[in-house]
Amino acid sequence: MEISNNLNKLLKELPSNVKLIAVSKTKPNQDILEAYHAGQKVFGENKVQELVSKYEQLPKDIEWHLIGHLQRNKVKYIAGFIELIHAVDSLKLLKAINKEAVKNNRLINCLLQIHIASEETKFGLSIEEVAGLLKSEEFTQLNNIRITGLMGMATFTEDVSLIRNEFKTLVKLHKDLKNDYFIDNPEFKEISLGMSNDYNIAIEEGSNMVRIGSLIFGERN
Ligand SMILES: *Cc1c(COP(=O)(O)O)cnc(C)c1O
Repeated sequence: MEISNNLNKLLKELPSNVKLIAVSKTKPNQDILEAYHAGQKVFGENKVQELVSKYEQLPKDIEWHLIGHLQRNKVKYIAGFIELIHAVDSLKLLKAINKEAVKNNRLINCLLQIHIASEETKFGLSIEEVAGLLKSEEFTQLNNIRITGLMGMATFTEDVSLIRNEFKTLVKLHKDLKNDYFIDNPEFKEISLGMSNDYNIAIEEGSNMVRIGSLIFGERN
């Protein structure tokens, strides 16, 4: 009851252009099924092994997103079914995804993760690196991946103006890249920004994809 109540409350609040990724990492299948039966069909996980095991056990019309860091040697486990990979942060990884996509005869949607936080530890490409990647000859030869947008994570802080500025940076970058590299490509449209604590700010700044876990499923241990 609790999970479906949380979900419905959240869905009522979200603008219709914003897609909700219910982040179910560490949560049992039973919790996911409660959200599923309340109408949620899109779930996000951050670990490959957990994602694969949930994919195998749960209804096949669930749309699975990988939101966490992905290692090249693990792409093969998810390439057959993944709907969107949020955290692509190198050309090497994109090439690995493309290779597995070819084997599975699929086109795999990816977001480029951009480093917007002031913390050192977060993954992601810098603004210079993303331009270099999109310009490269190697990138243009990857026919089985599709870059559908950008993803970012703000600094873990109480400082709302810092978070807001980081989100602004990503939304501006999305606009610039769209003009420079994707002008004839309507598929480059996703801005994956915002989690339980900052999704309101993210939406105000232009996010159209929020990744929310604890607000739906409760705190993780
Ligand atoms: C865990 C996680 C989330 C969701 O976090 P909550 O604070 O529980 O909403 C979103 N994005 C990523 C990349 C995550 O790893």
